[in-house]
Amino acid sequence: MVAETHLPSVMVLSHVVDVHCHPTDSPISSKMMEDVHIRVCAMSTRASDQPLVRELTQSYPDKVIPCFGYHPWLSHWIATKAITSKEDHYRSLLVDQSKPDHIAAFEKLLPYLPDPSPLSEVIASLREDLTGFPHAMLGEVGLDRSARIPYSPPSPPPYVLHDPEKKDLSPFTIPLEHQVAVLEAQLELAVELCRNASIHSVKAQQATVGLLDRMLKKHGEAWTRISVDMHSCGLSAETWKDIERKHVNAFLSLSTVINSRSPAHKSLIAACSPSRILAESDYNDIRRCTSQTWDMVKAIADIKRWTVEETWEDTPPENKDEWGVVRRLEENWNVFQKGGHTMARKLPKQQ
Ligand SMILES: [Zn+2]
Repeated sequence: MVAETHLPSVMVLSHVVDVHCHPTDSPISSKMMEDVHIRVCAMSTRASDQPLVRELTQSYPDKVIPCFGYHPWLSHWIATKAITSKEDHYRSLLVDQSKPDHIAAFEKLLPYLPDPSPLSEVIASLREDLTGFPHAMLGEVGLDRSARIPYSPPSPPPYVLHDPEKKDLSPFTIPLEHQVAVLEAQLELAVELCRNASIHSVKAQQATVGLLDRMLKKHGEAWTRISVDMHSCGLSAETWKDIERKHVNAFLSLSTVINSRSPAHKSLIAACSPSRILAESDYNDIRRCTSQTWDMVKAIADIKRWTVEETWEDTPPENKDEWGVVRRLEENWNVFQKGGHTMARKLPKQQ
């Protein structure tokens, strides 16, 4: 069992932002939302999730920052080429003819898979959602080489109630090139509409770095106008330092639910510039987003040797070195949200 987290006052919490979570995965009541005193960036992952994030934002505009996007785990549901039939789409995407076990596994998997959607339609509806909410972000999008496709039908929302506890996994993963194509199309839209993005990256360091570099090269200043948050990523500290140096618009957010499984998250936090770090829960239940984010805020404070605010002073200490973790993370969030980074932005000295 997880120990109860001691939370600070509502005044302090009102300055905390959970930069990545999935509240629409679970049932949400108005009582649950009344108890939320932080702001949350609510991600969407698939077509049926986008309207849920829209509705949550319309009901709680002061607490919810909407994020629209298509998750890499479900990117096989999207077709980047013309669709001749459902079977053709999935067969050409997934089956490796040199692997004998693929043939029978594909026959078993196919009935569980939904009709694919053309990428052009996905992007068109994403455009509608993003333009409908001027402060909306792109998310959750990304790359994941470790995810395997389960033998189970797509769950209806709220997803956690319908997801099987133990998923029976097929041998199929989604080819990286396909994931890159789906991610790149979504990022192109984010650049065009000048929207920040929340990016997932698991076992795909090189491809992630390559894509970010390509976006910078192709779009130049238009790329640095948006901010990108590498969320709960599996990057090494060295790879992160490299991204941070090359991309003035890149931020890092970690969660205890994902990252504390590996001790590497501490070196990642230590390596991250104090001005590029954010906190998140990545939680799928709004009742736990606050405590999970707060745990990460405290972990960051611990590693960075920053104080943790117990009460809130409206006037910050003149000397920034005396700022507590909440004020620092709030400032980072404000810089992230504002975007418009200039190429010449220098990193402050490591603290
Ligand atoms: Zn997530």
